[in-house]
Amino acid sequence: MGSIKIGWNYFLYSHCKGESNIKEIALTFDDGPHPSITPNLLKLLAKYNVKATFFCVGKNVESYPEIARSIINNNHIIGNHSYFHSYYFDLLSSYQMKKEITHTNDIIYKNCRIKPKLFRPPYGVTNPMLKKAIKKSGLTSIGWSLRSFDTYKATEVVKKRLKKNTKPGDIVLLHDTVDDAVVIVEDYLIWLKEAGYKVVSLDRLLKIKSYED
Ligand SMILES: [Zn+2]
Repeated sequence: MGSIKIGWNYFLYSHCKGESNIKEIALTFDDGPHPSITPNLLKLLAKYNVKATFFCVGKNVESYPEIARSIINNNHIIGNHSYFHSYYFDLLSSYQMKKEITHTNDIIYKNCRIKPKLFRPPYGVTNPMLKKAIKKSGLTSIGWSLRSFDTYKATEVVKKRLKKNTKPGDIVLLHDTVDDAVVIVEDYLIWLKEAGYKVVSLDRLLKIKSYED
């Protein structure tokens, strides 16, 4: 069971929550960049002056390098979310995993001139091979404490679920590949403000560095 749920830290230490006792949370968006949803989200985040972290898939950065650059130009953070985001990522050897992680960092560096230190495993799966690969890559594994729409639930259900379950220090997992992402995130941002929550960047919440020097 140890490889199923990232929050358990059974094989691999992943940061899943800030230690914050104050009402601060961080937003993370996985699986992009997406050609239309990511730009719309960037506009929304600018409107609310919120900084987020985008865990990008290497092949998507290759397809949409200008969108990856606009994430950085808007002062958000980019993290590594593997190259293929294969459902079978957990079956790879540590050598293959490291290769995929390094390849993705190379693509991100080539296009955005940054070297990500933060890695989120595809599907949140962790195992001893990944532990080894991450250690060798020198990256930091990032999980989450609150997830939104991993399965394609109705927009209203997701909105309610986020608001009902938010706690201080949460790392919130969202996706910039879901059609209703902008609608859901705007509703959430409005609620967060009303509820007295501040959205801070992931590096600030966890007091860690996002990039290599
Ligand atoms: Zn993902």
